[in-house]
Amino acid sequence: MELIEFLREKNDFVSGQEIADAMHISRNAIWKQIERLRKEGIEIEAVTGKGYRIVDASDAFGEKAIKSFLHTSWLGRELLFFDEIDSTNDELKRRADKGAGEGLVAVADIQSKGKGRRGRAWETPAGVNIAMSYLLRPRLSPDIAPMMTLIMAMAAAKGIKEVSSLDARIKWPNDIVINGKKLVGILTEMTAEPDYIHEVIVGTGMNINTESFPDEIKDTATSLLIEGGRRYSRAKVVAAVTDAFEKYYEIFCTTGDLSMMREDYNAACVNTGAEVRVLDPKGEYDGMAKGIDNRGELIVIKEDGSETRVYAGEVSVRGIYGYV
Ligand code: ATP
Repeated sequence: MELIEFLREKNDFVSGQEIADAMHISRNAIWKQIERLRKEGIEIEAVTGKGYRIVDASDAFGEKAIKSFLHTSWLGRELLFFDEIDSTNDELKRRADKGAGEGLVAVADIQSKGKGRRGRAWETPAGVNIAMSYLLRPRLSPDIAPMMTLIMAMAAAKGIKEVSSLDARIKWPNDIVINGKKLVGILTEMTAEPDYIHEVIVGTGMNINTESFPDEIKDTATSLLIEGGRRYSRAKVVAAVTDAFEKYYEIFCTTGDLSMMREDYNAACVNTGAEVRVLDPKGEYDGMAKGIDNRGELIVIKEDGSETRVYAGEVSVRGIYGYV
């Protein structure tokens, strides 16, 4: 076995002695091989008292790494990568104002002004998460905007499941949760005339290798690392989610609604068939969620038996006993 394979298999620090014993080579020979691998661009950490650890290329996060996993035909073919940005949604808005076309994708490691709905903040600390936005110019009427959020949720759930095999579920309309905690948030912003969309920007923040969260959100937030017990390649997640989004979006553009995806959405949604508390600004109420209709509104049977549809714009939904 080559040294590189040995280190990859261990996937953690291995002492020089352990390597020497396993590979029947001298410490000096190990050092020389490590130097050679580093010259080839393979990052290997050396820590006194711990030994060597390969920083696997699967950890690489940048335009090249993402494109090496991407299978789309138009979405993300033009991809902007930022080590740090105020907000990937804001960056795409600036580019859109200058005429950037459909399919432009912005990805960032750090967001200094990440946004949630209703002006709330979204945390994107350094080196662990994904901030990503898509620029879209659907030739549809502006009232479709909330549906774009639901398509993003489906794509995120699908891509994350593919890469991690974890049970990522949708919390209507715009969150992905695992074990009842929030892994992904989605924010859709649109610029439109009454009957014409200039652009829709769909942004998402995904917690991937986050070890811990600030106190305010630590009870409701989670990451793939926390749930899966290992680190995941952010480049792979970006690519898998983007592949899925392109497919869903193309179907959506042919029908102009979610009719072709409704069953999939409801199957992935934690609220389907569950009791919910609807935090409507006009008054809270409880009910049983039946899933979404073709336009992405949540069908809720109220306690008095009447049926209502909850529009995704301004409303949050909770489980009766907690966040989901
Ligand atoms: P709700 O769950 O009430 O419907 P929302 O989906 O509208 O909320 P957003 O406004 O999209 O939530 O997200 C902002 C909220 O998410 C913040 O107020 C904060 O509580 C939480 N939050 C911020 N950063 C993160 C993060 N990295 N991971 C999980 N949750 C976060």
